[in-house]
Amino acid sequence: MATKKEPPITVDESNCTGCLICELRCSLMLERAFNPSKAAVRIRRLVGSDREYEISFTERCDNCGICARYCPYQALIQKKETPLAGE
Ligand code: SF4
Ligand code: SF4
Repeated sequence: MATKKEPPITVDESNCTGCLICELRCSLMLERAFNPSKAAVRIRRLVGSDREYEISFTERCDNCGICARYCPYQALIQKKETPLAGE
């Protein structure tokens, strides 16, 4: 399994619009190609649920945070720890 080197990614599925930018950016990083089927983040449309989309991660995910950085709707957020001013 890949090393989890960065802070975990917080998921808010209620914000997800299914744009698939996260899958495209992840596959570009992993495979150097825009191929959502190769992405380590998976967006699945739900039918008959209160949520429209389900977001999951495969074993290949190493928490690099690229998907969160490019998600335009704050459905994926990676909080980097920043030192407080004056400390
Ligand atoms: S954190 Fe990185 S490896 Fe994991 S799904 Fe997002 S872009 Fe892909
Ligand atoms: S998680 Fe963000 S980038 Fe990915 S499909 Fe949902 S809204 Fe788009």
